[in-house]
Amino acid sequence: MTATLEPTAAPDAPVATFDSLNPANGDLVGTYPIASKAEVDAAVARAREAAGWWGNLTFAERAEHLLTWRSVITRRIAQLAHLSHLETGKPHGDAQLEIVLAIDHIAWAAKNAKKVLGPHKVSSGLLMANQASTVEYKALGVVGVIGPWNYPVFTPMGSIAYALAAGNTVVFKPSEYTPGVGQWLADTFSEVVHGRAVLQVVTGLGETGNALCTADVDKLAFTGSGPTGKKVMAACAQNLTPVIIEAGGKDSLIVDEDADISKAAEAALWGGMSNAGQTCIGTERVYVHERVFDQFMAEILDQAKGLRAGADAGAKIGPITMPSQLGIIKSHIDDAIAKGATVALGGADAVGERFVQPTILTHVPEDSTEITEETFGPTLAINPVASMDEAISRTNATAYGLAGAVFSKKQGMEIARQIRSGMTSVNSVIAFAGVPTLPFGGVGQSGFGRIHGPDGLKEFTYAKAITRQKFKPVMMLTSFTRDAKTDGKVATLITLMHGGKKTLK
Ligand code: NAD
Repeated sequence: MTATLEPTAAPDAPVATFDSLNPANGDLVGTYPIASKAEVDAAVARAREAAGWWGNLTFAERAEHLLTWRSVITRRIAQLAHLSHLETGKPHGDAQLEIVLAIDHIAWAAKNAKKVLGPHKVSSGLLMANQASTVEYKALGVVGVIGPWNYPVFTPMGSIAYALAAGNTVVFKPSEYTPGVGQWLADTFSEVVHGRAVLQVVTGLGETGNALCTADVDKLAFTGSGPTGKKVMAACAQNLTPVIIEAGGKDSLIVDEDADISKAAEAALWGGMSNAGQTCIGTERVYVHERVFDQFMAEILDQAKGLRAGADAGAKIGPITMPSQLGIIKSHIDDAIAKGATVALGGADAVGERFVQPTILTHVPEDSTEITEETFGPTLAINPVASMDEAISRTNATAYGLAGAVFSKKQGMEIARQIRSGMTSVNSVIAFAGVPTLPFGGVGQSGFGRIHGPDGLKEFTYAKAITRQKFKPVMMLTSFTRDAKTDGKVATLITLMHGGKKTLK
């Protein structure tokens, strides 16, 4: 990505643009405008107008449009996967896989929005028994979505599809590394709704993202790095705009002594190396019970034979999409080695000009950056632990809390529950991301708010509570006519209801 900034506002001045480059070879993939503050505001104004139409459709009508879009994406999946391959460098198969998951999420959100968000009767309780109570979840209006480049379809779709299904219109600012993918998504949706501004894209750099944060949006869903997330929150605070922050992670994979070692090694290798390690929910740390540590290492090194990064068809790992990340990956490997880690695969020379070869380090000191900070490269830090308690406490000794995995035959669920993170897979990796009913999001420095599932739909709404009086109350409480006799009856009733020593069964 290179930018040609022309910050002049003169009407016939050249439009400021930036280039999207192929990270595998530096080739130009496309040139896109840098949307100014005024252009972002105009897009949001169009979205606000379109919300009058989209937000007033029935759930079934919106679902029909979303399901048509899903079919369009499915039919043109090869085209979108190729564009993602060009912009991110990831292999075609990996590009297709994230689109497959995104398609499933669009379908789920479309089909379930009414059930989750539509009016529900709730009990009014004894004190208010004369009331009929309902709750429903109303669209917020216009949602701003800011996305990263590592999963340019799947990640923003977790916000876009759910926000749209809930009845909002969306203005999407894709990463400057993947503007083409973002534009493709907006263009195809536009075909489905005959040009209405229900899903629009504004392309640009950080400043365009900042403009979206301060625009007249009703919520801002951000996915990206923690430091940028803080800037997004600060900008959104100006208008009290609520935010969702989906930030980075330092996920661990835990291997118990009774685990299927071959499957655990396979999962750790894929969880750590796929997408060149550029996965928010990727495996970065592995804690293996010391009794099976040697067996695990032999297995993973055997499975890693032939696995390499490159641009040719035989390479299963693509380039590092963002050139500035290369220095960070190298610094983490160097820091681990300098502090005493053992190199089992790859190592100090693994970081090239565009590609990083798979690197596995063991006995990595817990205070090295390879353990404490998000590396976002194809590296794994694998350490032995004396017990599962130690694996859990080391896993939790991080400021992040996004996801993780556990391999254990007997204790999988028990261990999973003790991990302070938003999502855990037992005996697999990343499985939760493909289950549309499950909420996706983190705690701590990994952010807050949830996409996917019922929680993800509600995230883009506000709860609306309504009580309707069915009949006159037995005791009129909300009136100045209430007398001492009624107060006495109220005291008796509340004592009967809550004065006993009964505890919950
Ligand atoms: P980034 O923070 O550099 O950029 C993310 C987006 O924010 C881009 O569109 C960028 O243009 C925009 N941006 C930059 N400055 C901004 C500003 N001041 N105001 C508003 N927007 C601004 O992140 P990235 O490098 O694109 O993505 C990688 C990061 O994303 C990693 O940390 C990864 O873990 C995280 N991630 C998290 C999840 C998740 O769901 N938790 C998913 C994917 C990626």
